[in-house]
Amino acid sequence: MSLILTIDRARWAAHQRALLAEVPGLVPVAKGNGYGFGLETLAAQASELGVEVIAVGIAQEVAAVRAGGFEGDVVVLNPWRPFDAVATALLDDPRVITTVSRAEDVRALAASHPGARVIVEIITSMRRHGLSPASLTPGDLDGLTLEGWAVHLPASGSLEEARRLTREGLAVAKAPVWVSHLSVADYRTLAGKLDVAAHMRVGTRLWLGAKDAYRTTATVLDVHPVGKGTRLGYHQVAAPRAGFIVIVSGGTAHGVAMAAPVHQRTLKQRLVTISTGVLDAMERTLSPFTIGGRKRDFAEPPHMHSSMIFVPGDASPVQVGDEVPVTTRMTTVTCDELRWI
Ligand SMILES: *Cc1c(COP(=O)(O)O)cnc(C)c1O
Repeated sequence: MSLILTIDRARWAAHQRALLAEVPGLVPVAKGNGYGFGLETLAAQASELGVEVIAVGIAQEVAAVRAGGFEGDVVVLNPWRPFDAVATALLDDPRVITTVSRAEDVRALAASHPGARVIVEIITSMRRHGLSPASLTPGDLDGLTLEGWAVHLPASGSLEEARRLTREGLAVAKAPVWVSHLSVADYRTLAGKLDVAAHMRVGTRLWLGAKDAYRTTATVLDVHPVGKGTRLGYHQVAAPRAGFIVIVSGGTAHGVAMAAPVHQRTLKQRLVTISTGVLDAMERTLSPFTIGGRKRDFAEPPHMHSSMIFVPGDASPVQVGDEVPVTTRMTTVTCDELRWI
């Protein structure tokens, strides 16, 4: 009854090794849903790759990468806040590096957790988290173990901005530089000119860069013939034509979502539909499931663990037990099963 993620282990790992060779100082990022693979799987893979440090998004994810067997240093990317008890407890873990992004937090930690390992995040054109290094005095950092300056750039960040901001940090204290979202070429240029160690934090390109190394499939759980106008589903909508209702694994619990209906995206269109009294007709909403060689429409919004798909025609292209391709967004999908090939 499951959504399956099939991974070609050799291809997946070969891509990662190639990127590691190209990007000296690469730090794998394992956060959130583990880019579809899960945090424990990514942690185990990072150990396999032999990296010494990985990054997680939030403090709560440290336990998951430890459960996956990763024993090296773990950087927590989201900056520490005084109200985060889990992150505060990790300040005492000698293998965790905490990100700090406000001058008052730097001072608070120097006082409350002297010697804690920290990376200070510099504010960038992202305008998410970060401080201006000029707002610190060298004395502010004395009580802490400064593991580096972080520069988190917008997608396709500029080398010029990375250079300018790292220079600002290094003027306050000499420490390694940790960047996110530079191109490989720009990162190598930046790193080549520094006299401190450089790191680039990479998730998407590392885990999802080899598209032919993984795929998600759903399983056909039922197939029912329907005539034109047959009512079906929770909402008892009418089948638009004769065909089949195909029930496939994969629903809201897996992150399978329904985008706006193909023909009824605007409120005005919806109102027209209501006023003409045809709201109970099945809306054409393309599903991510490929059945009989093409993407098919949802018969109704996905259920928790399965979806009802409408396939027109007089012969069903699939039967119970078949596996069908499903297009998933890997940063939101939760698969039930990993299948290694
Ligand atoms: C998530 C994250 C990354 C990795 O991003 P990808 O686009 O998945 O490579 C790097 N740095 C920071 C600070 C992040 O939060």
